[in-house]
Amino acid sequence: MTKRDYYEVLGVSRNATEQEIKSAYRRLAVRYHPDKNPGDPEAEEKFKEAAEAYSVLSDPERRALYDRYGHAGVSGAGTTGGWSTTGFGGIEDILNDFFGFGEVFGGRSARRQAPQRGADLRFDVEISLEEAAQGATRTIRIPRLETCHVCRGTGAMPGTQPEACPTCGGIGQVRYQQGFFSVARTCATCRGAGRVVRTPCRECRGAGRLEREKTLEVKIPAGVETGSRIRIAGEGEAGERGGPPGDLYIVINVREHERFERQGSNLYINVPISFAQAALGAQINVPTLDGAQETLRIPPGTQTGTVFRLKGHGMPVLGGRGRGDLFVSVTVVTPTSLTREQRRLLEQLAEIEDRDFENESLMDKVRSIFS
Ligand SMILES: [Zn+2]
Ligand SMILES: [Zn+2]
Repeated sequence: MTKRDYYEVLGVSRNATEQEIKSAYRRLAVRYHPDKNPGDPEAEEKFKEAAEAYSVLSDPERRALYDRYGHAGVSGAGTTGGWSTTGFGGIEDILNDFFGFGEVFGGRSARRQAPQRGADLRFDVEISLEEAAQGATRTIRIPRLETCHVCRGTGAMPGTQPEACPTCGGIGQVRYQQGFFSVARTCATCRGAGRVVRTPCRECRGAGRLEREKTLEVKIPAGVETGSRIRIAGEGEAGERGGPPGDLYIVINVREHERFERQGSNLYINVPISFAQAALGAQINVPTLDGAQETLRIPPGTQTGTVFRLKGHGMPVLGGRGRGDLFVSVTVVTPTSLTREQRRLLEQLAEIEDRDFENESLMDKVRSIFS
């Protein structure tokens, strides 16, 4: 099979400029890329053909050889045999690495690594349930990277400027030829920044950021619960290369309370009452979270586990819209030690109760006989 003329393959004239050759190849590479034409041997062949043509015509020396001697002039190692499809990068790779999008669009500086936003920070704060109910203020100290105040983040000694990196010429990437492709790598000298600092700032040793402990006063709003996050914009770590700072997140953990249990904006408490109070009814005092007391009326005949609601004595709703309720469950307590008087009265009570129980069970028997 005779080889097609490279200019013909790319569809350009023999005196096409470098730019014309580049654009022509880009069009073909994107159209015939194996990623876009899976399982299409014809497209793959066209792709290889175009890549080969481009590898010769994009190199002035080899293009001159080709112009003078045709395929014979450039058929050395690396141009024909040994092509394998495993070496293909994705289309994005072709567009980015082979052509350098930054160069084609938007100029060289676009390839430099962009300023980077600083990292978000998380700070955990533990508060009591009372503090969660009333809101609180906490002074916290966070170690974080801040923009160096001496060099203002450039990393260069005051009076000097960062210079364009000599290795990559300020692009931030270095390219080298690998087979048909030129491969771009992040420049090792400047680590992609495109600039190097000749005389580093003494304060931050060229880093542009310093580890500092920042003291902040944080207002914790009433109604927070465990897991609530308070975002403090701009108080995270400083950005890199002049990027904006990250945010600080205060994550709340509300300690468990000895007496009160919380469920959303409602509170729950268990209160012991005596047998007499349960049987006769009573007015009892129930503690509330704010340290005060509320009066609760217990009706006669109250059982253990009965729940009463004290409206509006729960937690405030975050954002200031009302309050939850306080649910009071009562437990009837059996006395463990009795005074003589109590014992005497209870024994009397027991005698009456025995009789009542007997009567009741007798009635039950009568009932079951007649039913
Ligand atoms: Zn500095
Ligand atoms: Zn560099």
